[in-house]
Amino acid sequence: MSSLHPPGLPAPGLRVLLIEDEHDIAANIWDFLERRGHEVDHCADGVAGLARALRGGFDAVVLDLGLPRLDGLALCRRLREAGHGVPVLMLTARDTLDDRLRGFAEGADDYLVKPFALPELEARLRALQRRGRPAAGEVGYAGLCYDPHRLTARREGRDIPLTRLQGALLDALLREAPRIVPHARLIESAWGAGGADTAALQTQVYELRALIDRPFAQPLLHSVRGVGYRIVAPA
Ligand code: CA
Repeated sequence: MSSLHPPGLPAPGLRVLLIEDEHDIAANIWDFLERRGHEVDHCADGVAGLARALRGGFDAVVLDLGLPRLDGLALCRRLREAGHGVPVLMLTARDTLDDRLRGFAEGADDYLVKPFALPELEARLRALQRRGRPAAGEVGYAGLCYDPHRLTARREGRDIPLTRLQGALLDALLREAPRIVPHARLIESAWGAGGADTAALQTQVYELRALIDRPFAQPLLHSVRGVGYRIVAPA
């Protein structure tokens, strides 16, 4: 089913990874976000922060620029090199064009200059998360979206172009997620009734997996032997 948020209900909390070495700033951000219903994980140096970010499972990363062991720019670059598209909000000490441009060049999505108001931080995180959510006409589940008009999937902020067949399969899987979609239904969705056999389906699912799962830390598309396939959120 679509993970679009129904209007009128309080927005669900975000899972935020905070990478900040200054204890007081980290504690302030952490307290504020948790009081606002978000889930916060904290690392105080760049090496630990990168390892945690690479394990995945976050809606956004709040990343300080100056960090011990590995600075924020290098961390962001290594995260992107590893294929991670999780939204990154960078914290900088000074508002210099140079810092901003370097941050964006290394793959940061937004930045805030210290000191900042905590509600502003939350608003920016929400905006980043919305960019990673399904838009009108899209279908999405567990952070994976598909736009049938553009034949493009999106995961962790990354656009993934699909073939028409792959798109039809993903569309059928996302609409039913996390339920199992039987082989025959998937074949009908992609080729039309009786249009292919399960071997052809297997080949297409293999290719779809290589695009939507393999570059990421957690697989979403699972096979149910002899029955079909399903998309489930990571445990
Ligand atoms: Ca710092």
